Amino acid sequence: MTSQPSKRVAVIGGGISGLAAAYRLRELRPDVAVTLFEAGDRLGGVLDSVARDGYLFERSADGFITAVPWGVNFCKRVGLEDELMSTDESRRQAFVVCRGRLEPVPEGFIIMAPRKIGSVLTSRILSPWGKFRLGWEFFVPPRRDESDESVGDFVTRRLGREAYERLVQPLIGGIYTADPMQLSLAATMPQFVRMERDHGGLIRGAKRRKPEGGGKPQENSGGARYSMFAAPRRGFGSLVDAVRQRLPADTPRLNCAVKRLERVGEQGAWRVVLERGGAPELFDRVIVAAPAPSAAPLFDVVCPPLASNLAAIEYAGTAVVSVCYQRAQIRHALDGFGFVSPFIEKRAIIAGSFLSQKYAGRAPEGRVLIRAFVGGAKRPDLLTRSDAELVALVHGELADLLTITGEPEGSLVSRWERRMPQYHVGHLARVKVIEDQASALAGLALAGNAYRGVGVPYCIHSGEMAAEKIVKDL
Ligand SMILES: Cc1cc2nc3c(=O)[nH]c(=O)nc-3n(C[C@H](O)[C@H](O)[C@H](O)COP(=O)(O)OP(=O)(O)OC[C@H]3O[C@@H](n4cnc5c(N)ncnc54)[C@H](O)[C@@H]3O)c2cc1C
Repeated sequence: MTSQPSKRVAVIGGGISGLAAAYRLRELRPDVAVTLFEAGDRLGGVLDSVARDGYLFERSADGFITAVPWGVNFCKRVGLEDELMSTDESRRQAFVVCRGRLEPVPEGFIIMAPRKIGSVLTSRILSPWGKFRLGWEFFVPPRRDESDESVGDFVTRRLGREAYERLVQPLIGGIYTADPMQLSLAATMPQFVRMERDHGGLIRGAKRRKPEGGGKPQENSGGARYSMFAAPRRGFGSLVDAVRQRLPADTPRLNCAVKRLERVGEQGAWRVVLERGGAPELFDRVIVAAPAPSAAPLFDVVCPPLASNLAAIEYAGTAVVSVCYQRAQIRHALDGFGFVSPFIEKRAIIAGSFLSQKYAGRAPEGRVLIRAFVGGAKRPDLLTRSDAELVALVHGELADLLTITGEPEGSLVSRWERRMPQYHVGHLARVKVIEDQASALAGLALAGNAYRGVGVPYCIHSGEMAAEKIVKDL
């Protein structure tokens, strides 16, 4: 009697979305043969950590939110539970650059919702008129139109131009390396749509809401307590390694860019055609976990409308410039997690993170590791500069803002061209069409940061959901 050949599933893209998909497939159906195609020579996509001279550099993400469970749960399942560490909440303060100086973001100001009007009134960030206009938000009637609106339009409508330019634009621009005038509010900050709809406004809504994280540790599903952000002790590279070690050795195939997908019959198998030759291979199911610009051409033959919708999702590039100093070189107290800088301040740095103040073990004793983001949707020109130029530019601005003497004693520049999806106005409607088009292709699922969340936990969730969808009818 011949045994039934095992089913084969292809996962395309070896970033955290594809890794989570492959791992979930393994958990649900260990009998299924999973092949993870990765174009590059390493797994993890943008996630990568570099240990050097006692520092631990993160090339992209440095932590993830714990308000959604998927990141913490995944880390636990891949054996990193004891490795997860929280941010030091006593230092949970963010600064914003204001007329060349770092000013604390008013206490209780959560992205765009002022919970404590008093702290906004005493802040030096807004002029008297800007404060008045922000307080007037209480009386601004809710919008009746349910169509999508940009973050910028929403905030200027509710809180006024100054609060947008000086506070909200840098806070949101810093998260998405985006222009909030183009970002979809519903896709990026749906909680504020709900606040206006359910409570009539942000001030009214913020007063009624429990703080999100609010400085208090969260109770996670496993009972362990984490602050609002968590990170693996040995960096995100260790998360990637942990997943890889739990997958069968023949699951990942590096340096294997997929060029095209083809159908074998209407409901039949998928033929995966590789970029650099090699015989095309047949699979029963496919999960595409590559970023939208790379996923689009895969569907050129099978479903051109899906290809063009994927190609229409815009991505911005950014560079993460990490610089190392001796603590004694820096006059600033570094009594926070970092700062953001508004466009109107005309600086190269979009946001700076005091990484070694946020998480233990990122710098040797008496040393400091700071990460600065440059580029983004508004300054793509900066990415044409050399590494040395970027380090000099970042050091110059940090020296000015933090009063630093001397030069950095180390640096690392990480460039991410077109790797930050920009959820522009209308994004969710486009994603719905993409999902419908993908669902019409039997045996296909999509995952990744292009659709319903860019943060690591959201990418993990998208990979896991794709895996669950795929095994249902396998
Ligand atoms: C600078 C930066 C900072 C960030 N900071 C944070 C943070 O602090 N916290 C947080 O939660 N999130 C953060 N994010 C977001 C988060 O890290 C990413 O959204 C997430 O890691 C993306 O994972 P992914 O697998 O979807 O995509 P990617 O990491 O882009 O991986 C996609 C993979 O697909 C491969 N691929 C592409 N095309 C093909 C093909 N044709 N065939 C085979 N393989 C292919 C690529 O080589 C790549 O390895 C940050 C992102 C960046 C860029």
